[in-house]
Amino acid sequence: MRLLVATGNPDKLREIRSLLGHLAVELLTLRDFQPVPEPEETGATFQDNARLKALYYDGAVAQPAAAVQCGPVVYTVAEDSGLAVDALGGDPGIHSARFLRPDATYPERFAELHRRLSSAPRPWSARFVCAVALVHAGRVLDETIGTIEGEIAPEPRGSRGFGYDPIFYYPPYGRTLAEVPEVDKMRVAHRGHAFRQLARQLEGSATNSELRTEHRT
Ligand code: IMP
Repeated sequence: MRLLVATGNPDKLREIRSLLGHLAVELLTLRDFQPVPEPEETGATFQDNARLKALYYDGAVAQPAAAVQCGPVVYTVAEDSGLAVDALGGDPGIHSARFLRPDATYPERFAELHRRLSSAPRPWSARFVCAVALVHAGRVLDETIGTIEGEIAPEPRGSRGFGYDPIFYYPPYGRTLAEVPEVDKMRVAHRGHAFRQLARQLEGSATNSELRTEHRT
């Protein structure tokens, strides 16, 4: 079985490889195929966007390639993720990657979040969410979702991880996710929860198409 991990984000790809690397599955990336434009993320939820991306890359990339190569079946997995801050009504949420401006730096985004939060009482509770969809030949076979609960830190700390990790304080560690090794982040974070559920499904079913459940962590 071959699994296309359909993301162009190298940080996500690194984390997903470490979460799925133990499976007896050949992991492919978008770089293994002819380039296609990115789909517009028009969904209203993380789940909608994960499904939309997986269905798009299955139809535009994986199935056409499988038809030409006649190799082992290609499944496609996509994820949508982001940061939801309670005092901001769940923002930036599904708009996390483009928050403030599409080309804004993360320090600029941190400053804007702190500006918007300045009148709200602390702790500024927040969570990361990761929704995952597995698709084959136009059918959604599995969907999982993972979350991690934490707080927005009053200033950024740490240089590991990516994106909003430096301002995501995780109380059980007493640190931000950018201050801990990746293996410790994966153990507790949204992407780890969502992809471990998917891995269990894949392990239990190899290439079968009877995967049609939704799981929550
Ligand atoms: P999308 O799923 O490509 O729409 O974008 C997700 C965005 O959410 C990323 O570009 C980051 O800004 C943010 N994000 C998602 N997961 C993480 C994480 O594990 N750490 C930090 N930021 C994240």
